[in-house]
Amino acid sequence: MKRSRVILEATILAFLGALLPLFVTIYGAWSLSLKAEEDRLMNIATQAATRAERSFADAAATLRTLGGRRFISCGDAHIGEMRRLVINAGTVEEIGYIEDGVLKCTSWGKEGRSFKELAPDFLIGKDIKAWVDVVPLITGANPMSVVQVGPYNALVDPGRLIEVLAEQNAAITITAPNGVVNATLNAPDPDFTEKLGRETTKGTLGDNIYAVHSKSGWTAVAVSSTDGLFGLFTKEHWLFVAFGTFATAVIIGLVVRMSRKRLSPLGELAIAVRKREFIVHYQPIIELSTGVCVGAEALVRWQRPGGALVRPDLFIPLAEQSGLIRPITDQVIDAIGRDLGRLFSQHRSMHVSINFCADDFKTGRVLETVGQRLGDSGIANDQIWLEATERGLMDIDEARRTIAEARTRGYAVAIDDFGTGYSSLQYLQSLPLDALKIDKSFVDTINRQTATSAVIDHIIDMAKGLNLAIIAEGVETREQAEYLLAHGVEFCQGWFYSKPMPAEDFIEYVETSLQRLDSGVVMLSRASV
Ligand code: C2E
Ligand code: CA
Ligand code: CA
Repeated sequence: MKRSRVILEATILAFLGALLPLFVTIYGAWSLSLKAEEDRLMNIATQAATRAERSFADAAATLRTLGGRRFISCGDAHIGEMRRLVINAGTVEEIGYIEDGVLKCTSWGKEGRSFKELAPDFLIGKDIKAWVDVVPLITGANPMSVVQVGPYNALVDPGRLIEVLAEQNAAITITAPNGVVNATLNAPDPDFTEKLGRETTKGTLGDNIYAVHSKSGWTAVAVSSTDGLFGLFTKEHWLFVAFGTFATAVIIGLVVRMSRKRLSPLGELAIAVRKREFIVHYQPIIELSTGVCVGAEALVRWQRPGGALVRPDLFIPLAEQSGLIRPITDQVIDAIGRDLGRLFSQHRSMHVSINFCADDFKTGRVLETVGQRLGDSGIANDQIWLEATERGLMDIDEARRTIAEARTRGYAVAIDDFGTGYSSLQYLQSLPLDALKIDKSFVDTINRQTATSAVIDHIIDMAKGLNLAIIAEGVETREQAEYLLAHGVEFCQGWFYSKPMPAEDFIEYVETSLQRLDSGVVMLSRASV
């Protein structure tokens, strides 16, 4: 993945990470405030509707009790009882007694005015008649509600119903069962109240928060403005904003940390493993006496998204250190199966040499992975060579066990980069190896008359003494090839013959090499393709 893309992604993530918690907490705090205000208004509306309904019901009950008793019509006892009831009942202002269309007396004293009874505005139950917005006959005071049961009626002051709610920061409207507004408090907007209908509900409309409560036909509406809410919100919920800011800082910190990790070499390597960016090139292994290609060493390459190839010595050490070498080795083996399965099933004498890290040999995992991944590939076990460095075989007992098991299964095992480590003849003797690869640094000394020039001869002698096949690495000149052949080395690989190449090129190289063998062109010749 490109660095610029990682940085762009991180910037976008950090930006979103910064905004999101702030937005969420502000939104959360606002919603909570809104809900709290709706609940408060619903509480007010419920109280108002309940009080309206109760005051009418109470007045009716009082009148019914009165009607059940016998008095001398408008006598002192009669009027006295009416007065007592008015004083005791909270919302009843006056009680009147009617006989034959004449208001004969009230709780205040004798009367005698006749009046015409209008049809009631609404009925409560069967026998309770009710009127709202009536100007009292006697006092001519503010409009009142009237409840009538039998010969008695009571004046109920609607203002008294809600005056206890005057302290609340809300506009209140109470509507009677016939739809007439019975009482208001704090100047509600009648158009808005009407819009809300008469179902119990709560919510927000424009700049208003409202709650409607209906009870036995009575409806109370309580309304407040969102302006007040903002003050409440900033006062009570600054904690949410503090939390949001903290969460923002944490998220930005995490994004920065994650991006740093992704931008680190190890992070990049891990992404490459996940995206399976590893491919394999093949370097032909040549039989020196004939110049014929007898196999190949599989060499891993990291192919970056732009197509550039990264050499293994730049990432294998890090992969080994971090454990990522395991999935990389798996990808290499999978590629070998795909690339060479067909070719190798046609040419059973060819082999492929695979590099394993120290850990794979120590744990024996090498056997398991090769078995699982190349079992059905068309490549036979005896066409597979396992390469281990001296370092990989350091733990001699485990190494011996793994090598023995590998050979039982038909694989050949070669020791790689021989001579660059600390291994002794004795050490080499104790391992049941098949082949030894002479490191390029020794091949480089051929015909150079350097202090170490003689070492390669010793290595060759030692390998012969142990009956190991010898492969010389890094052969770059004809002289080196001739020298090695003259000293009994059977195989080699190196730029003199071919550099490592992609699978298609290698397959073509093999076909050409075999054709040359058929036509008799052999011996140290460069197999040009
Ligand atoms: P190696 O196993 O010693 O592989 C031989 C290296 O020598 C290869 O380098 C090859 O390209 C290079 N080479 C071959 N002939 C010549 C030549 O004539 N002249 C010169 N100058 N170089 C030559 P490469 O491909 O860069 O690999 C480097 C090392 O990375 C390998 O050394 C091996 O230790 C490791 N490696 C490669 N593939 C794998 C793998 O799949 N798994 C593991 N664990 N290690 C790998
Ligand atoms: Ca090797
Ligand atoms: Ca080597």
